Amino acid sequence: MTVLMMNRLSTNELPQPALRSSEPGQLAVEILERLKYRIGKDPKVAKPHDWLTAAILVVRDRVTDRWMDSTRKTYSTGAKRVYYLSLEFLIGRLMRDAMTNMGLMDEMRDALASLGVDIDLVAQLEPDAALGNGGLGRLAACFMESMATVDVPAYGYGIRYMHGLFRQQMAEGWQVELPETWLAHGNPWEFERRESSYEIGFGGSVETVNVDEEVQRYVWKPAERVIATAFDTPAVGWRATRVNTLRLWAAQPIDPILLDAFNAGDHFGALRESNKAESLTRVLYPADATPAGQELRLRQEYFFSSASLQDILRRHLQQYPDFTSLPDAVAIQLNDTHPAVSVAELVRLLTDIHGLDFDQAWDIARRTFAYTNHTLLPEALESWPVPLFERLLPRHMQIVYAVNAKILIEARKQKHATDEEIRNISLIDETGERRVRMGNLAFVGSHSINGVSALHTELMKETVFADLHRLYPDRINNKTNGITPRRWLMQCNPGLFALIRDAIGDEFMDDTEALQALDAFADKADFQEQFAAVKRANKVRLAKLVQTGLGIRLDPSAMFDIQIKRIHEYKRQLLNIIEAVALYDQIRSHPELDWVPRVKLFAGKAAPSYHNAKLIIKLANDVARVINNDPAVRGLLKVVFVPNYNVSLAEVMVPAADLSEQISTAGMEASGTGNMKFALNGALTIGTLDGANVEMRDWVGEENIKIFGLTAEEVAKARAEGHNPRAVIEGSRELSQALSAIASGVFSPDDPHRFSGLVDGLYNHDWFMVAADFEAYAKAQREVDQLWTGPSDWYSKTIRNTARMGWFSSDRTIRQYAEEIWRAG
Ligand code: PLP
Repeated sequence: MTVLMMNRLSTNELPQPALRSSEPGQLAVEILERLKYRIGKDPKVAKPHDWLTAAILVVRDRVTDRWMDSTRKTYSTGAKRVYYLSLEFLIGRLMRDAMTNMGLMDEMRDALASLGVDIDLVAQLEPDAALGNGGLGRLAACFMESMATVDVPAYGYGIRYMHGLFRQQMAEGWQVELPETWLAHGNPWEFERRESSYEIGFGGSVETVNVDEEVQRYVWKPAERVIATAFDTPAVGWRATRVNTLRLWAAQPIDPILLDAFNAGDHFGALRESNKAESLTRVLYPADATPAGQELRLRQEYFFSSASLQDILRRHLQQYPDFTSLPDAVAIQLNDTHPAVSVAELVRLLTDIHGLDFDQAWDIARRTFAYTNHTLLPEALESWPVPLFERLLPRHMQIVYAVNAKILIEARKQKHATDEEIRNISLIDETGERRVRMGNLAFVGSHSINGVSALHTELMKETVFADLHRLYPDRINNKTNGITPRRWLMQCNPGLFALIRDAIGDEFMDDTEALQALDAFADKADFQEQFAAVKRANKVRLAKLVQTGLGIRLDPSAMFDIQIKRIHEYKRQLLNIIEAVALYDQIRSHPELDWVPRVKLFAGKAAPSYHNAKLIIKLANDVARVINNDPAVRGLLKVVFVPNYNVSLAEVMVPAADLSEQISTAGMEASGTGNMKFALNGALTIGTLDGANVEMRDWVGEENIKIFGLTAEEVAKARAEGHNPRAVIEGSRELSQALSAIASGVFSPDDPHRFSGLVDGLYNHDWFMVAADFEAYAKAQREVDQLWTGPSDWYSKTIRNTARMGWFSSDRTIRQYAEEIWRAG
């Protein structure tokens, strides 16, 4: 450790900021000051957006004090740093989060009120930073908050996409994608770090230079170069225990304008390089669960990996004399394979730039990296054609070959691997067009490979990584996902939060598992009533949003049955819609029966190129139009598709759910985190034994969750032995009637065959076991109806869900990563 550096950064010698008062009066003075001097507005003419920015700036200053304390502490204690590399951080809005965690929520509300400003109204104007697709990106955001909360010195590294995930609009029931412009009004949370810039190369060639008779050095001469510039956003932990850094990279050209071309009159050509560089970080690829496979995507992956690693190594050398200490001082977590090229990049930087030999560099890399797998779907595993990889990253290709040779020799000699095992563990897929397997690269370059739920981890050992697991049996481990209870209970559900506090005190605010104490209230009539009143208020809030946005009136006393997540065949929104059609049919046929009033709500985006997913959205809307306009089922059944699902919408929909739909084909959802959010907020889950649903059942008790359908093992068996969906459909009157209604155009009279392809898919393949699980699902739904008719029983179950979900806090998940993988914190 350089003594000089340590002295310079010693906490004791630096002037500490005076603690600012957080009295509303003082905060109001500061808001006015920011408005005047930072935004340049007189309060008389300030727009709501100006008030929002002024409020954020006041909070940000207090956050910054804690941020600097945290960074100084990391240097002065020599603590291990954790780097979380993720191509996605689905952080959503930040103001309420920061205020809650700084303990400033009430004070800021009062301060703004004293200036005539309603905090809830201006909070709505904050853009929702949608720098992610779904679960994987939202997990990274929850982890950032929990790492700060449990005092792990951590940096998140990712890309500052100019346009996050597209905005979804409906045009006659079809999804239309519009660009997201979250940076249109600037971003008061971020700090641009012009000084933290790195050059990133692409293409070109590799030369060898003889250092002496025995040693050769490789020199990569890239053909193209761009600059990565850092933008930092503070990540505030609960009670501001610590504030960590989310560092997002933006691409910039080396020469912003080619003056020669400009002067010669080629005004567009003069900006070509600039546009090309900036296009690198312009958009987030919108495919969830399938690799984008485009050259620009590989460029994005390498761009952010290289910038992050250069930054990590620079910081390390500031504190340590060399890199032998890297694995003790640094842990790098790869969130899926998107940053897997980092393994090769670290080896390149250590050997080519810093002069270590290959074996040493490889040993350091493997002890530093850990990898989280998020999917078992074989088609979702990232791989790149060798010619593309070689053209874009010629030096990395050499490193991949060198690593592969080392691994394969080790496998053959020490572990006596068979030819088939060798083929499966190789970093190069030789079965067709030769491809670099990013999952295998991440696996061999890491000391820990984790799944995200117990079931997923077991399946990982048996399927995608079976051969690698046999060779390296100590590496695979499980870290079941979690969610931050600050955003997903305290902030999104203030009514429930206050009720819980009243009942069991404050301990659960620092230890979510203390929610257990609520169990004792589950059967108390007065508590059930209060719990039901909170749920109703949340439903009224959602009903208002639906009424304003879509003009559809919802009755808050109906059961709110909600499925919100990416639209994907394996998540089976189709099963839910078909069941709605079957129920509609039954209500019409038997109006005399006592039907439970239900509102089925859907939300979610489809990847723009995912034909069937977009068709499923259209089907939901078509079915909704017919059902909602049929007087025969008025008051008994409504179907609503709420457009543009994002974190902010989830924050309104999750607390309003009575029933949470977690109905993926067993074996296909790695974990899910939406499932946890609903249960924590007092919804009953209807779900399959998939992902973390399995562990949720264990925690809440099987009498408090409605499980149905085939298990993962049964799905695998049915697929292997040949499942006959046609026979299943023909054997179920309800299902065949629902499918024939859909296929014959009852819901799409303007285009009667619109859905015949979807329905044919069920008859002929049914890969996702929709037909196979239909009867079990419909039966489970009627049992849910039964439960709903006994409110005391219903609320005792849903209260028990809230009480028993504490283990699913991301604080627990992060403590496990810190203790078992990172050995940090
Ligand atoms: N997208 C958003 C905006 C979310 O908030 C969540 C989790 O709540 C997800 C996606 C992931 O949902 P699921 O786990 O149900 O796929």
